[in-house]
Amino acid sequence: MTEHAVVIAGSGPTGLMLAGELALAGIDVAIVERRANQDVAGMRAGGLHSRTLEILDQRGVADRFVSQGTVHHGALGFSMIPLDHSDFPTRYNYVLGLWQSHIERILAEWAHELGVPIHYGSEVTGFVQDERGVNVQVSDGKSLRAQYLVGCDGGRSTIRKTAGIEFPGADPTTSNLIAEVELAVEPPEWGIRRDALGIHSLGKLEDGRRVRVLVTEQDVKRTNEPTLRDLSEALIAVYGSDYGVHSPASISRFTDATRQAARYRERRVLLAGDAAHIHPPDGGQGVQLGMQDAVNLGWKLAQVVKGISPDTLLDSYHAERHPVTARVLRATMASVALRRADDRTKALRDTVTELLAMNEPRKRFAGLLSGLDVHYDLGEGHPLLGRRMPDLDIVTATGPTRVYTLLHRARPVLLDLNDPGIGNAITPWRDRVQITNARYDGTWELPVIGAVAAPTAVLIRPDGYVAWVGDLTQAGLADALTTWFGSPNAA
Ligand SMILES: Cc1cc2nc3c(=O)[nH]c(=O)nc-3n(C[C@H](O)[C@H](O)[C@H](O)COP(=O)(O)OP(=O)(O)OC[C@H]3O[C@@H](n4cnc5c(N)ncnc54)[C@H](O)[C@@H]3O)c2cc1C
Repeated sequence: MTEHAVVIAGSGPTGLMLAGELALAGIDVAIVERRANQDVAGMRAGGLHSRTLEILDQRGVADRFVSQGTVHHGALGFSMIPLDHSDFPTRYNYVLGLWQSHIERILAEWAHELGVPIHYGSEVTGFVQDERGVNVQVSDGKSLRAQYLVGCDGGRSTIRKTAGIEFPGADPTTSNLIAEVELAVEPPEWGIRRDALGIHSLGKLEDGRRVRVLVTEQDVKRTNEPTLRDLSEALIAVYGSDYGVHSPASISRFTDATRQAARYRERRVLLAGDAAHIHPPDGGQGVQLGMQDAVNLGWKLAQVVKGISPDTLLDSYHAERHPVTARVLRATMASVALRRADDRTKALRDTVTELLAMNEPRKRFAGLLSGLDVHYDLGEGHPLLGRRMPDLDIVTATGPTRVYTLLHRARPVLLDLNDPGIGNAITPWRDRVQITNARYDGTWELPVIGAVAAPTAVLIRPDGYVAWVGDLTQAGLADALTTWFGSPNAA
């Protein structure tokens, strides 16, 4: 039986990101993927948002995505009400247009460079946990042994079901088809149409031949494998014609079902991405949430596998990611409610549009949907605590650099900005935490919150969130180091 420290089921964006994080930390990780290769069937995500680009920047690979995508300012939206966030203090104050097929290809190349084996064409069919690990059953009849198994296997997750983790939430009320096709007859109208059923749109693609169709179906279908006939029927029901629809390059169905796993962990089995939460694609959140789950979990799992931290550290993964995602799911449900075109929904939509034109609500929603406002509850204190570290331009002994460059190796960083006593305080953790002395003369500004007081030191977790903020006293530093990076004599 082949052994790995961690086995991941699924090589979607979540599984690939997690594998990269674990490999960077030196963990023996393998992915089992049902698909024969990395090709993405149907249309899925169309872009990356600010915080997702930042986490890629923290690993030094954001440019690989940016160079292949298109920058769209003002493209963030709540229920298609545009939210400009170009005034946010981030290097990525835009949405990067990039299809999921490219996102996955680039992530897979990165995972490959880091030496992660991906077993395509095989499926995890079940598993059995014991005290020391997990026996993972794979479709080719072989088994794998792992210390931990992570289900990144999408919304219908076998891992979640086998672990007996409940998946409470809202059943679907509406069903949409999204497709790339050709039409024999030019439709009389292009663009968005709203009616009592929901939202529909017809748009020409760049080649002038193919058409992107979004149409709300009459009924909520239970199957996920839509046909050309389904598309034709849905078009006729809305437009009175299917315009001779033919030659589909892709047809996908999505509903507004919204569910979240009750627990992200069942002993040695964890869930991430769509396996842990599903929701309609409104606001383009799925890939972002999944990749951010992966970055929250990766370094924690690595430390537990290495014996640096107790396995209770893994409980902080659920404690941090579950509430953050629940808030996003609530927003996507609200967004779906605003899709309808009856008079009262239209009045509500106009009201929300008016509110979102005001500065404060705009910032709040842009913060939520860009992922830049994520706040993990690490207790009371400086506003930076539990929030993302800004990517400051700093000067170190070796010259100018950026804070995110210090995070490329996915190791914790203690940034000493002017705190003479801190070197001694960190001594027992020096093997695990890299200490960097730096100068920074600029302002400290956080998205949504605005300017905050300059700290004298900051302890940054490998996922880029601030675990401790210094004010020349080092009060609480040893506790924070122990909580996040193990006891002084752990390594
Ligand atoms: C029409 C549509 C539009 C969307 N638009 C956006 C958007 O604009 N922005 C956005 O962020 N998100 C969007 N999403 C959502 C996004 O596609 C998903 O949230 C994202 O793919 C989730 O990534 P994941 O890795 O968690 O899961 P998945 O991408 O579903 O990957 C799961 C992987 O696990 C594999 N697998 C499943 N079962 C097993 C098994 N038992 N063993 C081994 N492998 C298995 C699957 O083959 C798959 O490769 C959209 C989705 C749809 C359908």
